[in-house]
Amino acid sequence: MKVSNEEILLPLLETKGVTLSIKREDTIHPLISGNKYRKLKYNLTRATAQEQTGLLTFGGAYSNHIAATAYAGKLHGFETVGVIRGEELKNKWSQNPTLRLAKEHGMQFYFVSREAYRNRNTLAFKTRLKKQYGDFYVLPEGGTNTLAVKGCEEILNDQDGGFDVICCSVGTGGTLAGLVNASRSHQRVLGFPALKGDFLLNDIRKFAQKDNWQLISDYHFGGYAKVNAELVHFSNDFKEKTTIQLEPIYTGKLFYGLLDLISKDFFDRGTSILAIHTGGLQGIKGMNQLLKKKNLPLLNI
Ligand SMILES: *Cc1c(COP(=O)(O)O)cnc(C)c1O
Repeated sequence: MKVSNEEILLPLLETKGVTLSIKREDTIHPLISGNKYRKLKYNLTRATAQEQTGLLTFGGAYSNHIAATAYAGKLHGFETVGVIRGEELKNKWSQNPTLRLAKEHGMQFYFVSREAYRNRNTLAFKTRLKKQYGDFYVLPEGGTNTLAVKGCEEILNDQDGGFDVICCSVGTGGTLAGLVNASRSHQRVLGFPALKGDFLLNDIRKFAQKDNWQLISDYHFGGYAKVNAELVHFSNDFKEKTTIQLEPIYTGKLFYGLLDLISKDFFDRGTSILAIHTGGLQGIKGMNQLLKKKNLPLLNI
């Protein structure tokens, strides 16, 4: 699937003499959007080849990966199980738009405490899952594995070789690794982590075949799914000026950071930048519920 690039025009870009194009991976599908489609693609092929009947995966309450896996499972005839972080959701998952959507697409939930979730890769936990659900094709949290990275390599196509810099948001780093592998060696790939943590570097090194990449770690806004009024205002303002919808967990932080770097002359004049819109827009409803509870401004949709 080839997705178009859209050049955006902003006074800041003109002043600084850089160009910014956005690859609209968010247009792939409203639910299996952006990188989650890319990450699932070859895993679904593998699961089919293995004659598996179900997919099992892990995620939090707003996870785009959970939403995408549920939908893709239904579409391709797999049962799906979501191991969800947060026991407290057991009785109120139906208030959560992401989980409601996943359930509508047939996903069964297994709610676990944060502690149990942290131990999800232990043998004891795996044995418990297997006892309860039988054999499933297991996708890791965030969907990143070798096949997911291979899928993300397809985000870039031949025409993208002309850009100097490629940027994306980073959760597990699978998307970044795919972009690095598909990039030309003269290109620089910048990842903007949406969360705090040094573990990312090593995770990405496992999958990235080149070292023309770097993490920009100053724009996580306090951690995963942490947002503030400034970020919401930025996302709304960006939409008003470009008509492109962002969500604050990943792409809002990416574009906030990228435009901030541009304003601080991080890039030479004449630099052409391609930023990947990795999608995730299904999460906005849930995010707005959260923002409302915290008396913060809401995202315009
Ligand atoms: C999952 C996700 C990411 C992070 O992708 P990784 O491959 O885990 O780094 C970025 N943007 C959006 C919208 C996502 O849903």
